[in-house]
Amino acid sequence: MTETASVGESLPPDTTPPPRIDGAKAMDYARQVVAFGPRYLTSPGHKKTESFLRVRLKGDELEEDAFNASTPAGNLPMLNFIAKFPGTQDGIIVLAGHYDTLYGRNDFVGANDAASDTGLLLAIADYLRTQKNRQGYSIWLVWLDGEEAIKHWSDADSVYGAKHLAEKWQKDGTAKKIKGFLLADMIGDKDLDIDRDQNSTPWLEDLVGQAATRLGYQSHFFQRLNAVEDDHLPFARIGVPVADLIDFSYGYNNVFWHSPQDTVDKLSPQSLQIVGDVMLETARLLPAHK
Ligand SMILES: [Zn+2]
Repeated sequence: MTETASVGESLPPDTTPPPRIDGAKAMDYARQVVAFGPRYLTSPGHKKTESFLRVRLKGDELEEDAFNASTPAGNLPMLNFIAKFPGTQDGIIVLAGHYDTLYGRNDFVGANDAASDTGLLLAIADYLRTQKNRQGYSIWLVWLDGEEAIKHWSDADSVYGAKHLAEKWQKDGTAKKIKGFLLADMIGDKDLDIDRDQNSTPWLEDLVGQAATRLGYQSHFFQRLNAVEDDHLPFARIGVPVADLIDFSYGYNNVFWHSPQDTVDKLSPQSLQIVGDVMLETARLLPAHK
């Protein structure tokens, strides 16, 4: 009780209704993406996902960030998507996920990893489109490419899209305007339990916890501590505050992770909704925080 009271003191007055995305729609998008089959770099499913994102984001301010990355499989073309939704305040909040699946694996459709966040970000775009003159910072939605390792996960062989974009944003000055970078990965699990990540920025993790508490979703957050290597790290390295929302316990002992069992039946619209709402609520609290 005392804890809730002290959390409440630092929060702005509630003048607008809390954000609420359409979880069923997010789920439907995730289903459609899974139906494209494996979506690893150079695969037909990857191309279909690119077209799908273009169609869904038509009419939005969409930037395509195409580049080539040197990998253990040679030089590969990659493509990040960035959809920009303006706010009334100067500054940017990034909500990101990845859309590639495990490289070279044709037995893996990646419902949770990562059709879940691909679909969630599309549902968030739908929500933001309805918010004319939205108070707060601009929100940029980012679908990153090349998260998965080509051979063996290492700093060099992983998060290619994130590394490219962080470098680009550092050079062009965008990085300085980013107030927070929230990453969603593996967030569709029916049994949702988002880890507290020790590689994320502590105050931003705290703010995510406050947002979850305000919406009544706190039982799905931070029961476990983890130190996660993911798309947020390249941005953390250039001084951007980051928080990775990840549930790295997918099935007993994480057995569904990177396995053929990562299928749509393991996901729920409620989990997608909870994570989407918490990301948007965190974005809403951020201007008052800093
Ligand atoms: Zn993965």
